[in-house]
Amino acid sequence: MSVESIDSPVLVADDDPGAEPDEFAGLTRRNSLSPSRASDFMSCPLLYRFRVIDKLPEAPSIDAVRGSVVHKVLEDLFDLPSSDRTHERANALLPGAWERLLDAEPELAEMFGRPGADGEPAGPDLLTWLDQCRALLGRYFTLEDPRRLEPAEREVHVITQLDSGLHLHGYIDRVDVAPTGELRIVDYKTGKSPGEYFEAKALFQMKFYALVVWRTRGVLPRMLQLVYLGNGEMLRYEPTEHDLLATERKVRALWDAITRASETGDWRPSKSVLCGWCDHKAICPAWGGTPPPVPQRGTD
Ligand code: SF4
Repeated sequence: MSVESIDSPVLVADDDPGAEPDEFAGLTRRNSLSPSRASDFMSCPLLYRFRVIDKLPEAPSIDAVRGSVVHKVLEDLFDLPSSDRTHERANALLPGAWERLLDAEPELAEMFGRPGADGEPAGPDLLTWLDQCRALLGRYFTLEDPRRLEPAEREVHVITQLDSGLHLHGYIDRVDVAPTGELRIVDYKTGKSPGEYFEAKALFQMKFYALVVWRTRGVLPRMLQLVYLGNGEMLRYEPTEHDLLATERKVRALWDAITRASETGDWRPSKSVLCGWCDHKAICPAWGGTPPPVPQRGTD
């Protein structure tokens, strides 16, 4: 799953915040890479360190939680008979999806109706927030008719191992298979469609998934489709073998750079507009802070 904020389109992106490598047998931060973590390193090596090496906690983001709930509704929608996959039924699934998330993470309730403190924005009203979720679901129905779709897989974890030993893995929101066997990889974004700069980043994630699928199933996906619920737009791309080979070279080079940073301890901050959404600004040297010592190398 990819969860993106409406307001912070890249920094909070994650395949699945609850599914870091050590949840999968044999995968560790030393031998695996997901598109989100690759994107972290490309944006800011120090951010990658804070998230992957230090594993510093980050405050739940209201936008990311909204993304999780909307993704869950869109996943559950396809459990219904095709004729029942209507906008009304999607809206009806919303409270249950939210309650299940709240059962798993009761602390999320504290995000709502919180009074504003010094310089801290007040938490949103829960009903307003649920209306925002409904608006995103409504936009989905302007882009696709789920009654006409029969996804082959949803929320599928894909993984492959390169000959270097590095595992590439991630979650794909939806895989559609045409009667001819052609594959379409679909990812929902609850943010708005990106500008030119961020479009390449979004496509990198999709090409990463396509590479893993190609390597594991021997089928080159025909279509990569990003569904932007924030503004009701779609981004479609037909990858070629050349594209995916270039993506593999890029991923290998990235992993070499991560390995070097790990060996030298040189995790450089890279200041950008994304710092505005970074939870670690207070301890970032680019902003006058001091990071904690790098944790001792463990087995993970
Ligand atoms: S504040 Fe900016 S430069 Fe510092 S770690 Fe976060 S993203 Fe990187």
